[in-house]
Amino acid sequence: MAEQAAGGHSVSQGLKVSALCRVTNFETARRVLGKNELHRVAEALAVRIAEGSHACEVIGVGRDLIEFSLRADDREAVTATLESLHAALDVQQRAFLGETRLEFAVGAACAPCDETDLLRLLEAAEIALARAGDERGLEIIDLSVADQAVDRLTLIADLPRAIAAGEMFLHYQPKINVRQQRVSSAEALIRWQHPERGLVMPGDFIAAAEESGQIGALTLWTLRQVISDQRRMAARGHDLPLFLNISGMLLANADFVDEVCEIITANPSAKLGFEITETAVIRDPESAIRHLQQFADHGVVLAIDDYGAGLSSLAYLKQLPAKELKIDKMFITQLTSSHRDPLIVRSTIDLAHALEMEVTAEGVETPAALALLSVMGCDLVQGYLISRPVPFAALCTYLDEQDQLAETMTNRPVFLRSGSSWTRA
Ligand code: C2E
Ligand code: MG
Ligand code: MG
Repeated sequence: MAEQAAGGHSVSQGLKVSALCRVTNFETARRVLGKNELHRVAEALAVRIAEGSHACEVIGVGRDLIEFSLRADDREAVTATLESLHAALDVQQRAFLGETRLEFAVGAACAPCDETDLLRLLEAAEIALARAGDERGLEIIDLSVADQAVDRLTLIADLPRAIAAGEMFLHYQPKINVRQQRVSSAEALIRWQHPERGLVMPGDFIAAAEESGQIGALTLWTLRQVISDQRRMAARGHDLPLFLNISGMLLANADFVDEVCEIITANPSAKLGFEITETAVIRDPESAIRHLQQFADHGVVLAIDDYGAGLSSLAYLKQLPAKELKIDKMFITQLTSSHRDPLIVRSTIDLAHALEMEVTAEGVETPAALALLSVMGCDLVQGYLISRPVPFAALCTYLDEQDQLAETMTNRPVFLRSGSSWTRA
């Protein structure tokens, strides 16, 4: 039986490694040595790498980068080989350069020898190199161990294809008006049905879509889908506003804002709301407030999402053309077990009302929380107690059977306030 090495690989199988060595102080070295000399040194170092281990092969030598591959028996051997190579380069370059020191960072990725996706291996080596930083670091990513950054990278490269292939879809989560005990709107939450990975949640790809500049295309897809779903919903007799989440970074993008406004103008019957986080506004208040006003002028209802979770500024809160404030679920899920959270929620509700905004509590999971929020004067509630995010068809059924809702809302315990605490009646 094959012996197991660190990382779960069998020794007999061995590992394939893609590695990148970068001169981190390239600009300084080029100024001191000149371009030609620096290139000569890089080539000499590449030879040194190739000689360093019988298993090393130099693939290419670029401006400040040497790409090489190697094979090793196991994960420990990979580390040992790269560490000794890193140290050897350090010694070697002194012989070439005397006083001028070159600094290196090495990033590598390893996978079992039968791995065929060499591009993925190289991409992971690039991530490792970025993680190694500028401080003569060495980073190794083992692809057989789940690595979220690598996963996100592969996912994100796949996003344009996924949108075109119809793999993205929306779930909707209703928001309930507490006094009327009726659904007042619903929030669209994006999901990705990946052919190999199954259901991928937004937490796994929205941030990467933002970083890779694909969030605009994704949001325009969502907007068009929401408009089309709303039209179908209205035809069924449910004329509700639908809300979508707009990434804060898009609020600084005038082209995106113009495109959104064009789509809305072309669909005058659409009733839309946008959820935005206040932190985005604080980052670049001037353009964000201008663009939010542009949305409001096009009839979009604005809601401030996740209030209290990030940076909050009363100065900006007052200036935003928002009609709704959504208190972050971190204050709601512990509402009836915490001493502090009810005070924060109560004062936030009062503040929002003073600013003529409606308040939504998100993350309502228990009848007790719902009851307390109702006593506090919260206008809207959203959470698993009422409904999880559901497919469009299920939302329509929910709306058809809306009367059942009154039962959830009325079977709730009553809370009374005494001093700063709440007691169940
Ligand atoms: P969010 O806008 O604050 O959405 C609320 C999240 O809380 C949703 O997670 C929802 O499923 C979850 N949630 C709802 N009720 C409860 C509850 O009672 N308890 C608990 N513990 N959680 C609850 P989801 O769908 O995974 O979305 C996460 C975040 O991803 C969203 O937070 C939003 O910021 C982002 N997101 C989702 N769809 C989009 C989109 O189309 N565009 C952009 N830019 N962001 C999106
Ligand atoms: Mg939201
Ligand atoms: Mg939220």
